[in-house]
Amino acid sequence: MPPELSKKNGLHFYQFPNLAQFTEIKHGMFTRLSGFSKGPFQGLNVSVNVGDDPESVARNRHAILTCLDEDELVFIHQVHGSDIILLSQFQNDEKPSHRRRPVSRKVLKILDSGFRRNDNKRLLKLALLKKENTDTPLIHNNQTGDAIITDIPGKMLVIQTADCQPVLLFDPNQKVVAAVHSGWRGSLQNIIGKTIMSMVHHFHCSPEKIIAGVGPSLGPCCCEFVHYRKEIPDSFWKYQKKENHFDFWELSQDQMLETGVRTNNIHISGLCTKCRNDLFFSYRRQKITGRCAGVIGLTYSDRR
Ligand SMILES: [Zn+2]
Repeated sequence: MPPELSKKNGLHFYQFPNLAQFTEIKHGMFTRLSGFSKGPFQGLNVSVNVGDDPESVARNRHAILTCLDEDELVFIHQVHGSDIILLSQFQNDEKPSHRRRPVSRKVLKILDSGFRRNDNKRLLKLALLKKENTDTPLIHNNQTGDAIITDIPGKMLVIQTADCQPVLLFDPNQKVVAAVHSGWRGSLQNIIGKTIMSMVHHFHCSPEKIIAGVGPSLGPCCCEFVHYRKEIPDSFWKYQKKENHFDFWELSQDQMLETGVRTNNIHISGLCTKCRNDLFFSYRRQKITGRCAGVIGLTYSDRR
């Protein structure tokens, strides 16, 4: 069963029923409906790297913040790899919680600059000044990686996708959230499993407690690999469901189950982005297109 489509402040987004019941978090799989972008980016494009007008992108990002009633979106520079960014409150906490081990400096990447609602005026100004140049510094000042984990309230983690899988994770016991960008390359590198193990090692999460949602992405109906013999190792060929078509949703589920996540705690949206190009951006359908936002973050208890 697909997740439910919600509408708030003019934006349309899906929520996973298993994540929606928790008051400690906010999340949403934003559709392309509404938004300020035009042409092939029509609607709520959040990427500054696809050729869209930076001012429209800044407005779209601001609309998401308003919709969530939050102040900060954290974007990462996604590269179809398997690096994981850890954003821990230990960095700012003078009295670290005794129940958590310190995060290893070696693996920690600090992301100190996302996108704040208050930055918007400045951003819009910058965007206007830099119309020729999509490399808007305040938005681009982000870390490279394909997953991000945090235990800090108020940091709304964003995954940008057009066919790749946005995977949202939450451990209600440890109060830790993660967002994963799992394209087919990331899937083959098991970025989802690695993120869960990072949650375990660095934030003391338990896989059996983790609640997971796999967002709208390329379904087995459209996930075609004509050259799969060259591109996909044979250990993954069992996910081929019909000629040249693979079920990467099932692979993601298996990768989560392998770490100890419970079947009942996994929700797969079942929405294919190429089939539902009216709702989502699809690289396979359009090539030049925008990116949708999948967002999850811990909220301050007084903000709900
Ligand atoms: Zn499809």
